[in-house]
Amino acid sequence: GTKLSEGLAKTRTGFIGRLSALFKGEELNENLVDEIEEVLFTADIGTSAANDILEAVQEHLNGDQKQDPATVWAFVRQYVLKKLKAREGKLDLDAHHPFVILVVGVNGVGKTTTIGKLASKYKKQGKSVLMVAGDTFRAAAVEQLGVWGERTNIPVHQGEQDSDPSSVIYAGIERGAKEGFDVIICDTAGRLHTKANLLDELRKMNRVASKVIDTAPHETILVLDANTGQNAIQQAKLFKEAVDISGIVLTKLDGTAKGGVILGICEELDSPIRFIGIGESVTDLREFKADEFVEALFM
Ligand code: GDP
Repeated sequence: GTKLSEGLAKTRTGFIGRLSALFKGEELNENLVDEIEEVLFTADIGTSAANDILEAVQEHLNGDQKQDPATVWAFVRQYVLKKLKAREGKLDLDAHHPFVILVVGVNGVGKTTTIGKLASKYKKQGKSVLMVAGDTFRAAAVEQLGVWGERTNIPVHQGEQDSDPSSVIYAGIERGAKEGFDVIICDTAGRLHTKANLLDELRKMNRVASKVIDTAPHETILVLDANTGQNAIQQAKLFKEAVDISGIVLTKLDGTAKGGVILGICEELDSPIRFIGIGESVTDLREFKADEFVEALFM
């Protein structure tokens, strides 16, 4: 698998690198805060997260401290760490049996891949897992999940051709419960045909899950692609209009300098970041740990 420090290398040398370069000087010039501001506002973290960091610097550091680069840098690092630490949160799969997970996100963000990786991870932990191919609008998604299933030897529930996503999810959860699976992970339709359309579909899939098991879904994971920067923040806004997002997965951190978007997403959603994707292989889905993440970014 990919090393976290390798996975985050582009973000580290990108926006964090530009920030840290500002702190290399012996003493900060008066415009330092302006310069930090400029880096932050062009870093894909979103204006709200950028403002938040700047305000914290202004509020918590006195005039002398703000003149000392090492102090400001250490403060920013600690501040980011504290923010991200609050977003750690492991899923408790033993809270429900079966434990039903809906995985949502627009096409292309890495939903299907994430499901394959996640199912494999849980299987290794000794859980019996059923994957449900609910993204019936995209034939390739159903096929792809089938490939993951073969590769990992994990069963995949597929509907009839042309069945709608909700009916596949209904039948999949029903089967999973009947056959005694520990975890049921459902792929969902992420076609962003029209906004209203997608939101209706999401609500319906959510409703259908609770029809089979009234406490389900026990987790709704929103998958976001770090590559898309500001768009990921917009997607977070959109999805939370339709469903309660209880967890976040941020994918493709390895291919982008836009990893700072994690801060913008945290401004938009209160939910924990369950996992991060740092590559295409099955082991490249990592539990999100703030310490490691910040260490790899600020090393
Ligand atoms: P979906 O449409 O949301 O189901 O997206 P897919 O699961 O089909 O993924 C789209 C592409 O992104 C595939 O080529 C995946 O291999 C790739 N992908 C997914 N997650 C990651 C990741 O963490 N890193 C990298 N580099 N590629 C990823």
